[in-house]
Amino acid sequence: MCIFCDIVNKKIPCFNIYEDDKVLAFLDISQTTPYHTLVIPKQHYTNLLECDDEILAHLIKKVKEIAIKIQEKTNCKGFNILSNINEIAGQSVFHIHFHIIPRFDQNDTFSIQFNENKDTNLEERLQVLLK
Ligand code: 5GP
Ligand code: ZN
Repeated sequence: MCIFCDIVNKKIPCFNIYEDDKVLAFLDISQTTPYHTLVIPKQHYTNLLECDDEILAHLIKKVKEIAIKIQEKTNCKGFNILSNINEIAGQSVFHIHFHIIPRFDQNDTFSIQFNENKDTNLEERLQVLLK
């Protein structure tokens, strides 16, 4: 179905760090920071919005457990944990996955920036979302 399904089905090798009947976690090939890990359900869902609720609940629980394990083993100082949805947001593999990106220092080879937009009308936005 997709490259991650091929990894689940062992057609493509991976550096597997955790596996159970529903979930697989393995090192991301890009290693944007050391120990960058992907956690995926074995069943194919395109993205988080499409994912079955029970599978998603299990998946996020495992993300937490694996992040704790990475922290214990590597002494990283924090994480960015994220799931890109659709191409516009940077999704390149269309099989839901959580990135666990350990952070070691300010000069890590990964950064995320929330730019401030001054020109916003929050009241108007609230009305859009509530109507
Ligand atoms: P996305 O861009 O969809 O959020 O993330 C996809 C991730 O999958 C990327 O960080 C990329 O490095 C990783 N990736 C793509 N192909 C492979 C592969 O064959 N093996 C592994 N381990 N990671 C992969
Ligand atoms: Zn797949």
